[in-house]
Amino acid sequence: MFLTVTTTGTPERPATDLGFLLHKHPGKAQAFSTSHGRAHVLYPEAGTDRCTAALLLEVDTVALVRRGKGKGRGGAPDAALAQYVNDRPYAASSLLAVALGSVFSSAMRGVCAARPELPGQTRPLHIEVPALPARGGPALVHRLFEPLGWRVTAEPVGLDTEFPEWGDSRYVRLVLDSETVTLAQALRHLYVLLPVLDDAKHYWVSSDEVDKLLRAGEGWLPEHPEQKLITSRYLSRRWSLTRQALERLELVRLAEADDSEVEEIDNAVAAESETEEKPTPLAVRRREAIVAALQESGAARVLDLGCGQGQLVQALLKDVRFTEIVGVDVSVRALTIAARRLKLDRMGERQAARVELRQGSLVYTDKRLKGYDAAVLSEVIEHLDLPRLPALEYAVFGAARPRTVVVTTPNVEYNVRWESLPAGHVRHGDHRFEWTREEFRAWAGQVAERHGYVVRFEAVGPEDPEVGPPTQMAVFTAAAATTTAKEAKAA
Ligand code: SAH
Repeated sequence: MFLTVTTTGTPERPATDLGFLLHKHPGKAQAFSTSHGRAHVLYPEAGTDRCTAALLLEVDTVALVRRGKGKGRGGAPDAALAQYVNDRPYAASSLLAVALGSVFSSAMRGVCAARPELPGQTRPLHIEVPALPARGGPALVHRLFEPLGWRVTAEPVGLDTEFPEWGDSRYVRLVLDSETVTLAQALRHLYVLLPVLDDAKHYWVSSDEVDKLLRAGEGWLPEHPEQKLITSRYLSRRWSLTRQALERLELVRLAEADDSEVEEIDNAVAAESETEEKPTPLAVRRREAIVAALQESGAARVLDLGCGQGQLVQALLKDVRFTEIVGVDVSVRALTIAARRLKLDRMGERQAARVELRQGSLVYTDKRLKGYDAAVLSEVIEHLDLPRLPALEYAVFGAARPRTVVVTTPNVEYNVRWESLPAGHVRHGDHRFEWTREEFRAWAGQVAERHGYVVRFEAVGPEDPEVGPPTQMAVFTAAAATTTAKEAKAA
């Protein structure tokens, strides 16, 4: 996550004065440890005409998560509440504001011992934040920055240009320009308004946030037309509460503060997933079949890959044999709803320690997915474009390699039995393909062979003599494990 500040200049007032203002030499790349990771300051360009300083924060997610955990609980993730819905490495956010405040503290105060006249002068400023979480969208970004003398560009950023249906991220690319704002003011605007727009509650340790707000808001906040919104957003999650308490509240507030928004989220996610099957018994039957297959496999630590709104995670929690349940999904909205459905915040510690929700894409290998007993891909593969499927296969069967993998997908042959489904249509707008039983078997057989699994198939839902069941399920078992069992028996 990063931010750049650019200024232009003349031989009399060179742009490189930016280095004095920021107390960071344009000729050197510098790194600083901050409480959330390493901050780098570098100058992609440093000339008399034009000079750009970049602040880059490498968020240390692990440290962040660790700090969110309770002490000495035998390695069990403490509620993992700090971890769910984790976009921190990617987005500018409250953490960037914290880094800004610590790396540029003198600049923010408008202090420059070497050139005391500089901080009071204005000069052209151009600021860019490529990915800024902005709850309230571009409209709010304008309302917050324009009264302060900025020309504002706030373009919504899609989650993935290739997959527009992941849709409507809450990020904007922010560009600010001004000739009337001093650098110190600019930094203070950002220090307060980035977390206000982020409106997520990632860190706080101290209860002196009111002082910080008043200090940073000096000279502009008291006159700001959105003063109330800024103050309440800035403080509501910080006010004298411990960081962990706030992290625990994070999603609850997000989900419950504004019910109309939740409705919206619900609808959007429902539209994304298997709307027409919910809450019809097929979804329930599918979960039952999956849970049964997992129980039979003896799995204790389970991944629900593409967990959506968390129904399966919820079902798994009911059986204490599943000691660790990790839901992974690419959609933050789905995870938000899942967290709310599971009532993660109100769960007892023990329950909470068993469950974790993470954002991530399954087409990339992820070391954190290694070492689990089982993984479930329930109604997920058909949401991927076929050319991407091998990447998911590799990430799951090749890299993560759980002993058991359960995959379900629609049986396209059955579609003729859905009365509401026009002939030749897939069951859901986001399905990239739906397979016949033969196609699914061929795919699963190949995957099993390539990655050293044995596979068996089960029908889910009422089996039609002609077209088969509505849902097909494959249960993969690592061949090595099978051999070992056999060998053990033979021995
Ligand atoms: N497993 C749930 C949800 C199925 S809908 C169930 O059985 O009801 C498919 C889910 O896969 C969606 O939540 C979608 O966000 C997720 N998904 C699609 N592509 C993904 C990817 N590349 N990585 C992670 N999740 C993905």
